[in-house]
Amino acid sequence: MPTQQVYWHTTTQMPDDSNPAPLPEEVDVAILGGGYTGLSAARTLAKHGVKVAVLEANTIGWGASSRNGGMVLTGLKLGMQTVMQKYGRDLAKRLFQCSLEAIDAVEQIVTEENIDCGFARCGHLLAANRPGHFEALQAEAEFMEREFDHRLRLVSRLEQRAEIGTDLYHGALLDDRSAGLNPARCAAGLAEAAEKAGATLHARARATKLERRAKRFLVETERGSLRAESVLAATSAYTGSVTRNLQRKMIPIGSFIIATEELSEDLVKELIPNGRMVFDYKHYLNYFRLWGNRMIFGGRAAFFPETSKTIRRSAEILRREMIRIFPQLEGVNVEYMWGGTLDFAFDMMIHAGEMNGIYYSLGYAGHGVAMATYLGRTIAEAMIKGNVQEHPFASFPFPGAPLGLYNGFPWFLPFAGAWHKFLDWIE
Ligand SMILES: Cc1cc2nc3c(=O)[nH]c(=O)nc-3n(C[C@H](O)[C@H](O)[C@H](O)COP(=O)(O)OP(=O)(O)OC[C@H]3O[C@@H](n4cnc5c(N)ncnc54)[C@H](O)[C@@H]3O)c2cc1C
Repeated sequence: MPTQQVYWHTTTQMPDDSNPAPLPEEVDVAILGGGYTGLSAARTLAKHGVKVAVLEANTIGWGASSRNGGMVLTGLKLGMQTVMQKYGRDLAKRLFQCSLEAIDAVEQIVTEENIDCGFARCGHLLAANRPGHFEALQAEAEFMEREFDHRLRLVSRLEQRAEIGTDLYHGALLDDRSAGLNPARCAAGLAEAAEKAGATLHARARATKLERRAKRFLVETERGSLRAESVLAATSAYTGSVTRNLQRKMIPIGSFIIATEELSEDLVKELIPNGRMVFDYKHYLNYFRLWGNRMIFGGRAAFFPETSKTIRRSAEILRREMIRIFPQLEGVNVEYMWGGTLDFAFDMMIHAGEMNGIYYSLGYAGHGVAMATYLGRTIAEAMIKGNVQEHPFASFPFPGAPLGLYNGFPWFLPFAGAWHKFLDWIE
């Protein structure tokens, strides 16, 4: 039986919370959430001489930032054809450019701060589950080259074994600008960098109340209160009632991962010979990559966020899926299983900006390794310059639930799950 532990946590020392620093009385900026968004913003603000405290409800890096697949991807959750239809050519180009800059930003920060997280431009593969998906990938490749001057390479089913050790897929699309890293090491490294720049990090300091007093906020936490000139909500899928207006715009969706025992070198070379980050075309998608000779295999096996029960059930589903794709892994032990929560806005877009005096950046929908790190930095820069409204991800509406029928509890997820299963069946 695999252990319910985040495998990544065994590969690094996450920041120590045994002796948490006392809260300062007053700061310029209080950041809620100690993941990529919060830590990257804290690093940038502190480097500009801003007095900043990161308040984290659990331990620093506890959220999705140390549990994810470590895929540093180009683009957004919504395909760029859809983005262009919805927002027009100019904004679509700007947003896609941000996604490329985001990967450069991760690379630059990791290099500058000496973060030993194995960042590598290994590229990603989007694999076709059906022949019709491959036709859609062909159209996508043409569109991306024509409109965005972004070159992608089609890998036919015949060539596929050179990239993925399976015959299950009907070809794939390769984007060699994408990268991969060890997410927990990246989060731990960002925390160290933020502290080095002068930010203070406070684990076990869940913000429980925000009160506007004259030009300042009184931020109450589980460990006392502090005053802050500005507040940045970097709480992603874990956004709670302390920022109720944001909570009502975010849908928390579970995503789950298993990690196998270490595999032989020969098997590793056969499974993903070029070390790509791989995900497939389904709505209930599978994503997988290698790290330290282990297969790290994730997917949306259940829609509800992680509990011991959803993790166990998902791990069984994921193991079956993994063996369906790679029958070579039939006898291999799964050693770790865990889950985390993804943040989806109702339009599946990332949103950054300011609402009722509170700054925010969230809605990464599975693209946060690059985008949260980058947007943490850019929202911080915009806060310093006072031009957040000009931020590209602030330039379109941030919708809530249709008819306002949502208070933060995603009652509709079973229906959405069934709908996505149906789409996977017919498409
Ligand atoms: C299983 C899984 C796999 C994923 N795989 C990928 C991938 O391969 N590539 C990719 O790009 N993205 C992936 N993602 C998404 C990515 O991990 C996230 O988008 C990203 O980590 C978000 O970073 P963040 O800092 O905004 O939020 P988080 O890292 O989730 O941090 C938010 C923090 O806010 C804290 N918090 C909440 N409320 C409060 C409060 N009131 N006071 C103080 N603190 C509070 C929480 O404790 C949490 O630690 C994945 C996510 C999951 C769950």
